Amino acid sequence: MGVIGHPVAHSASPQMHNEAFRALGMDWIYVAFDVRPGDVKRALEGIRALGVRGVNVTVPHKGEAFTSVDERTPEAMATGAVNTVVVEEGRLVGHNTDVYGFREALRRAGLDHLPEKAVLLGAGGAARAVAYALGTAEGVREVVVLNRTWERAERLADEMGERTGRRFLPGPLTEDAVREALEGAGLLVNATSVGMHPEVDASPLPSPYALGPGLVVYDLIYIPPRTKLMQQADERGARAVGGLDMLVYQGARAFKLWTGMNPPVDVMRRALEEALKAGH
Ligand code: NAP
Repeated sequence: MGVIGHPVAHSASPQMHNEAFRALGMDWIYVAFDVRPGDVKRALEGIRALGVRGVNVTVPHKGEAFTSVDERTPEAMATGAVNTVVVEEGRLVGHNTDVYGFREALRRAGLDHLPEKAVLLGAGGAARAVAYALGTAEGVREVVVLNRTWERAERLADEMGERTGRRFLPGPLTEDAVREALEGAGLLVNATSVGMHPEVDASPLPSPYALGPGLVVYDLIYIPPRTKLMQQADERGARAVGGLDMLVYQGARAFKLWTGMNPPVDVMRRALEEALKAGH
């Protein structure tokens, strides 16, 4: 198995999966393939011909993989992105395990019952996976999508509202819009890249004053493990959770799809933490 991306040398996925194989005594290996944009279809045909069981797909290839596979799961259809390919009897099946990863990460954070109202910051690829996970989760009635580029928020909200039958409301990523959106909300998710290494002093929130007790703040960013937004949440009495578990569980789901084995999630989390600490 492996991962295709460009560049891909920084990926911590090989460590995560290879440690899992070692822990289970499996004679499998996961490697990184640097594939140039435009070559994804040929790369996927190559893995099929070589007898590779499947691959993860990372930046910038998730869209190209979507158009290159033979079949797509409902999660892949909803997000327009494929992050995991499984070769099933010669057919390339495209999955999006980020949706499952986000759901499981919330469960692990103790959020078995989701609030009726959630606020999502961002309208890029990761935001699509989060929006679909929220829009298909029990208990969620309304999701407010706030994004710097308002038109992208509007497009995402229209599409997800239609697909899931829940209420999706778009808005701009401004102080007033954030304050208004957070009224009555129990969950705030950051799916923008603001605050990600190396811009560690940046926060997607124009001002932290709308945060308060009773709110869970889920930041998808995992480098650094404690972002500026998470610090703001802590200071205002909200509960902050970082993005590492989503990464672990999207990988765990792919592991299960490829091998049929139950993934050793704790081993995978430790391997990821070590790889990320070592600067991968
Ligand atoms: P993307 O498709 O490039 O989307 C980036 C988003 O961030 C867009 O909504 C963009 O707004 C917004 N943004 C970027 N710079 C901004 C700024 N200066 N001010 C305000 N908004 C800004 O990226 P992605 O793939 O969705 O990834 C987003 C983040 O999620 C990354 O940090 C990534 O590492 C993380 N992620 C984590 C996991 C996990 O497993 N934990 C999985 C996937 C992604 P515009 O539309 O206005 O450009």
